[in-house]
Amino acid sequence: MSDRLRQLPQVQSLLEAAPAQALMARFSRDEVVEQVRTVLQEVRDGLRVDPKRPLPDFFAEPFFDGLAARIRFARRSLLTRVINATGIVIHTNLGRAPLAPEAFAAMQAAAAGYSNLELDLDTGKRGSRYQLVEGLLCELTGAEAAIVVNNCAAAVLVSLSALAAGGDVVASRGEMIEIGGSFRLPDVIRQSGARLVEIGATNKTRLSDYEQAVSDTTRVFLKSHTSNYRIVGFTATPDRKDIATLAHAHDLVFMEDLGSGVLVDLAPYGLVDEPVVSDILKTGVDLVAFSGDKLLGGPQAGMIAGRKSVIDQLKSHPLLRAVRIDKLSLAALEATLRLYKPPHNPFHKIPVLEALAQDTASIRARAEDLTALIKAHTPLNAETQSSIARAGGGSLPQQDLESFAVVVTPPTGSPEALAAGLRRSTPPVIGRIAEDRLHLDMRTVTNADLPDILTALRQAVP
Ligand SMILES: *Cc1c(COP(=O)(O)O)cnc(C)c1O
Repeated sequence: MSDRLRQLPQVQSLLEAAPAQALMARFSRDEVVEQVRTVLQEVRDGLRVDPKRPLPDFFAEPFFDGLAARIRFARRSLLTRVINATGIVIHTNLGRAPLAPEAFAAMQAAAAGYSNLELDLDTGKRGSRYQLVEGLLCELTGAEAAIVVNNCAAAVLVSLSALAAGGDVVASRGEMIEIGGSFRLPDVIRQSGARLVEIGATNKTRLSDYEQAVSDTTRVFLKSHTSNYRIVGFTATPDRKDIATLAHAHDLVFMEDLGSGVLVDLAPYGLVDEPVVSDILKTGVDLVAFSGDKLLGGPQAGMIAGRKSVIDQLKSHPLLRAVRIDKLSLAALEATLRLYKPPHNPFHKIPVLEALAQDTASIRARAEDLTALIKAHTPLNAETQSSIARAGGGSLPQQDLESFAVVVTPPTGSPEALAAGLRRSTPPVIGRIAEDRLHLDMRTVTNADLPDILTALRQAVP
């Protein structure tokens, strides 16, 4: 053992120092002991790699400040708010849709006390949690009936289990989607107990393909929104109306997995291509499934809306209980759906829609403000650049959203090191690296986030 290793202070002597005693009073003895041990171990490991490495000044104030910072870091919750500067509005890794204040107020109220989750306040008898949002969903989608489960994947699974187990599900080869690595349509169909009958070719499926696939064992025609890719070029898919007519002529259910289902038309904001749930139902589709935390802008949930006779078949299926929605999500969902109704304008109330509908002038102004702040208060180089943001969450895959980013380059060190530093700040700031520079996209950031971003950058300068 080298001399320097032998010279390191004992845990006990550090713990007896007055500043350590003060830390124990502020935090706890166990936490101080743990961090002292960790630091000493790190110093020992460091000396083994490089015996000449400088040692910390063990009994000085900065050493104990460092311990306090470590304890605070160890106490932080592992699931924490982050600032999304990726420009991807619905980012699955970052928790998808941020909720409106009305939605989390409703969640808080439902969480803090008892609620009428399954109690009918009129009769005093047992009620159904599913009824709480069914009326709102029907009103907003034009459906006859609706039911809500844990997420859209569960919505598809429970629907197919109830409607097609033991029979065939007919679906186009061009729509064999995989979402986020774990939702693969062929696997979900198999899991439901149904058999997949793939029809058509990757780029073209015709009505006659559906017709020829029908047999005694056919139960469902399933259409899926190719939400994270597009097949372009020579393509064909029959109109929903025609598929619906054919399905009904054979007593089959026509279901669509919409994924991101929107409740309002986004075309006025330049976002075409994302079908509105009510329009889909008008074409004769019996059942649509869509997510709560994508373009709808609410909590994680899976909606199934459509024909009453079909929804009624789902209501008694045993899987429904296994995938039921919890009361907090239900509270947030109801509050979010109310924001789609007068006197509200959802584009002013629902954060996801606000972010999509934002005008580029205000995004640019935010980028210029942050650029100026960075130049004034840090040694980093920063400039405002136009950028491309995305809706994300498997919606509008092709559609670029005009945006502005602050592009940051550190005077020394790599952009990766700077990005890593930003991820360690409180709150962590998540950017994007492109062309060897760090991009902080301002479409998914609010003005209120700017001071936190600046603080994070100042601390992260390599
Ligand atoms: C996102 C998506 C799903 C899965 O939705 P979750 O709510 O994440 O379960 C299913 N189908 C499509 C088409 C999707 O886009």
